[in-house]
Amino acid sequence: MAVLVTGGAGYIGSHACVALIQSGHNIVVLDNLSNSCRASLEQVSEITGVKFPVVIDDVNDRAALDRLFTAYQIDAVMHFAGMKAVGESCELPLTYYRNNVAGTLTLCEAMKDYGVRTLIFSSSATVYGEPLSNPITEDFPVHATNPYGQSKVMVEQVLHDLVQADALAAVPFWNIAILRYFNPVGAHASGKIGEDPLGIPNNLLPFISLVAVGKLKELSVFGGSYPTPDGTGVRDYIHVMDLAEGHVKALDKLTDEKTSSGCHTWNLGTGNGYSVLEMVSAFEAASGRPIPYKIVDCRPGDIAECWADPSKAESELGWKATRGLMEMMEDTWRWQSQNPNGFSK
Ligand code: UDP
Repeated sequence: MAVLVTGGAGYIGSHACVALIQSGHNIVVLDNLSNSCRASLEQVSEITGVKFPVVIDDVNDRAALDRLFTAYQIDAVMHFAGMKAVGESCELPLTYYRNNVAGTLTLCEAMKDYGVRTLIFSSSATVYGEPLSNPITEDFPVHATNPYGQSKVMVEQVLHDLVQADALAAVPFWNIAILRYFNPVGAHASGKIGEDPLGIPNNLLPFISLVAVGKLKELSVFGGSYPTPDGTGVRDYIHVMDLAEGHVKALDKLTDEKTSSGCHTWNLGTGNGYSVLEMVSAFEAASGRPIPYKIVDCRPGDIAECWADPSKAESELGWKATRGLMEMMEDTWRWQSQNPNGFSK
């Protein structure tokens, strides 16, 4: 029996592969390599000493899923495959809905047909939009302000509806976890895998990392007069290995005989908020490199601050983020300085 990891070659997926293997699971990876490369999976094998099947195909391709579910005995799916750039989603809404929403529908149809009940879905704190207060608990209202966020809200709704329909069935089928990620950063401590965005990064830490290695001149800090202690945006940054381990805990929980079928939602964050300028200082301390920056206008659609209340995951999954800000920065820097060109050496 194995866990199917869709999008396993990507940033979060590859770290989840390491966590799954190291906790004794067999894995099969499905990835179309649209925003990732095979080298990350070779590095996962190097870190873990384990080789595993890799299928280069698309979750939207039902015939490919039929081949996969026929060839491998899959008992659970972690679904990371999807597109994640907010700005791009505003330009290409159809592409985002096709990949993120229709892709998940195709995957769920195949899971149902092959009797695979357990699904862990990558959602995002973006579904909370501008929260009324912080920290954010899972029962806050969800709404989205762009097609990327909307695609997560829509898939969450689909998953709830599947479980709702189960209530009418003689034997409930689905066992689903929705994991809402706050801001994943960092890299595996080996420095062998990490975030390798195509082109100019949209996210803060990848951008800072490229400034540190001299590939970008300076950071633009989006907004300096938010109602936050230093005027810059505040987020809940979480180490990607803590996030990956949260997935393994969610899988353990869903496959525990005592867990009843249903759809469970957990925030994965640390509960701490850091400003953009605090992130810059921490990265300078970890890397010993100066990060020149200038404060510019706010980025449209950005919110002032958000951080998680992660206590539901702690009490129900026995999971808690353990890696602090300096470890996030040191691990990011080790990955970036050892691999200035990412996976393309
Ligand atoms: N940010 C910034 N400059 C950048 C990228 C991001 O000042 O080049 C800020 C952004 O406004 C937010 C924080 O860094 O306050 C985190 O942004 P990111 O895009 O990483 O994640 P988000 O929380 O927006 O999904």
